[in-house]
Amino acid sequence: MSPLSPLSKVDLHLHTTVSDGRLTPRQLVQLLAKNGVRYAAITDHDTTAGLDEAFEEAKAHPGLTLVPGIELSADVPGGEVHMLGLFLAYRDEELQQTLVRFREGRVGRARGMLERLAQLGMPLEWEQVQRTAGDASVGRPHVAQAMVAKGYVASTQEAFDRFLGRNGPAYVEREKLTPEEAIALVLRHQGLPVLAHPSYVTDLEKRLPSLCAAGLVGMEVFYKSYLPDMVGWLLRLARQHNLVPCGGTDYHGMGTRGEVEPGTSGPPVEVFQHLERLALQRKGQAQPATPARS
Ligand SMILES: [Zn+2]
Ligand SMILES: [Zn+2]
Repeated sequence: MSPLSPLSKVDLHLHTTVSDGRLTPRQLVQLLAKNGVRYAAITDHDTTAGLDEAFEEAKAHPGLTLVPGIELSADVPGGEVHMLGLFLAYRDEELQQTLVRFREGRVGRARGMLERLAQLGMPLEWEQVQRTAGDASVGRPHVAQAMVAKGYVASTQEAFDRFLGRNGPAYVEREKLTPEEAIALVLRHQGLPVLAHPSYVTDLEKRLPSLCAAGLVGMEVFYKSYLPDMVGWLLRLARQHNLVPCGGTDYHGMGTRGEVEPGTSGPPVEVFQHLERLALQRKGQAQPATPARS
């Protein structure tokens, strides 16, 4: 199996317009089919709202098998860790309620901070803060960066020290989700938790034992444009911790130069088949994990 085939038939990390991607779920599925991708997971940030449309479109492309997914943003000190939930039983009412609460908590908090800053004479535009956040969910670092851009403070450090820190006048509390809790949430809803883009995780090697103890199943190894050295290192780590080496392009459809096309990075087909078996075992059913093509 070649970890660096130019066109992978498997892509298990993809975004659409229901989070920060630019293609609708339908357009993305059409592109996947056009690119000859055989197995794909749509993994929007903290939402599964694009999946029904994607599955509907997938019916027109019998060569493509789609599985439900999500990318949860979990909190670690000073940043975020992203956790994919593949084969998630996403129609569950309790899961959907949790996700709504979770999204509203994040957005509500960031908007709450903006309100307080406006009261302090430092108005910021929501759209600008969102742009700063890019792929991540809006958090304090992005508010701080927007404050620097506006010239309200000289540095993000000053923004935290004077306004956004725990005792600052613009601080707003919110519910947090640790990576271990994100794993538990995915497991509770029959999904397979997979650590996304592990190269971005600070202290990855120190963090892995706790994530594995919580039930982590896989880790992205064949990700976007990871170079052979990175792939090799992550592959060794995955083997060491008995994690399934997953991956995908994290495609957002931004159309930027050098953006990796869906289907150009991902694990071998055997890895997908292994994941599918694991998901089936966990669901304890004989029927396929993917919604039936009726
Ligand atoms: Zn991510
Ligand atoms: Zn992503």
